[in-house]
Amino acid sequence: MPLGAFPTMNGSVDEVLNRPYEECGVVGIWGAADAAAMTALGLHALQHRGQEAAGIVSHDDERFYQHKGLGLVGDVFSDARVIGALKGHSAIGHNRYATTGATLLRNVQPLYADFEFGGLAVAHNGNLTNAATLRQALVKRGCLFQSTTDTEVFVHLIAISLYATVLDRLIDAAKQVKGAYSVVALTPTDLIGLRDPLGVRPLILGRFSEGGWMLASETCALDIVGAEYVRDIEPGELVVINGDGVRSLKPFADPHPRFCVFEYIYFARPDSILEGHSVYEARKQIGVELARESGVEADVVVPVPDSGVPSAMGFAVASGIPFEMGIIRNHYVGRTFIEPTDQIRNLGVRMKHSANRPALEGKRVVLVDDSIVRGTTSRKIVDMVRAAGATEVHMRISSPPTKHPCFYGIDTPEESQLLAATHTLEQMAEAIGVDSLAFISFDGLYRALGHRGREEANGRYCDACFTGDYPIELVDKEGKLVA
Ligand code: SF4
Repeated sequence: MPLGAFPTMNGSVDEVLNRPYEECGVVGIWGAADAAAMTALGLHALQHRGQEAAGIVSHDDERFYQHKGLGLVGDVFSDARVIGALKGHSAIGHNRYATTGATLLRNVQPLYADFEFGGLAVAHNGNLTNAATLRQALVKRGCLFQSTTDTEVFVHLIAISLYATVLDRLIDAAKQVKGAYSVVALTPTDLIGLRDPLGVRPLILGRFSEGGWMLASETCALDIVGAEYVRDIEPGELVVINGDGVRSLKPFADPHPRFCVFEYIYFARPDSILEGHSVYEARKQIGVELARESGVEADVVVPVPDSGVPSAMGFAVASGIPFEMGIIRNHYVGRTFIEPTDQIRNLGVRMKHSANRPALEGKRVVLVDDSIVRGTTSRKIVDMVRAAGATEVHMRISSPPTKHPCFYGIDTPEESQLLAATHTLEQMAEAIGVDSLAFISFDGLYRALGHRGREEANGRYCDACFTGDYPIELVDKEGKLVA
């Protein structure tokens, strides 16, 4: 299905075309009372990573229980009887943003299957770049797919593996897939976590003081249930969690970290800690670097909320220009909103953002945002700020120019739709209607993340959407299964 035709449940079609969209969030709990409720709370904290669907599978030493639905976690699990029916001390859960497959109930994770070795539930965050090729081969072998999500490729590879144990089968499957994946899986005895050999997507290990363990995409999910952060699961690491504690396996010969740098810039929640770094501090520091690199005479620094706020704060501190909330975000925009006409669609951004006129009128404004994708949202925001009386608008972006699509679990338009891929800096400034435009440099970005600059950080992150240097082979160039 082409992206332009994508019916979204968390915003307008226009927004989908103009933002990079988050991927998914995963949670796993082992050995805790109310495991399903804890999982639901963890998913709620990870709601920013996917708003289209949510699901939980639990186990109570006898059998598995599951509940899945379309919508926000709070909607899917609003009925206490639903959580009450998800019995047991272990559970896994998933928030979905559809990077592969349409938003149908059959695509909602975790996926559960009965194998000859017993039941297994699997959920993953990321995107497999050879899913279509593997799926074709599996279908030829007689595998019957129930969904169009690439997670099911994992399930079938596990089913047909000749290894005896579930662990060996999971490792066998992981060695055949390519792409970015952070997996949580639940067997009757174990909670399993697995990160791809490059560790593109995050996966965190936490512990409950009263006993029990937790896996989650981000530390903000640990915080909401009072779990203590233990460590990040390492790239290429598989952990098996059960009554004996946490066992770590390293099934890949040469794991080589290439963490997604966009997690720091935009995707992760600012109160999360990734790889030992505060996302909030990293974003603030990017703003400091941005001010040093591309300072400008102005009266106010205004973030495009919410993700532009920490960088704008850093920019304001480093430049000495006052910080103002010149744009107010409406957090209560309806989830399902498919605008019927172009005219109505053009109102989309005003549903989400409003100008705070007293903070803008007669001012030279520095607008700070995290990225420019197609540029049409930026244009509308700039027009809105000018209409509120700003005399100059200078835009500063806390990422390098987005010139390439992501194939590793973030929904971005194809290259021809990316403003930075088809326009020079001057042309971009003209297209979005600003007096000046600047992006953070790679050196500035990596200095903000604690490195000496780009050279020292080189090869430690995935930054392919800025550089085109894809660290994982794109076997199926489209990289996505569609319904
Ligand atoms: S291509 Fe961009 S968004 Fe995708 S994993 Fe790499 S850095 Fe992250």
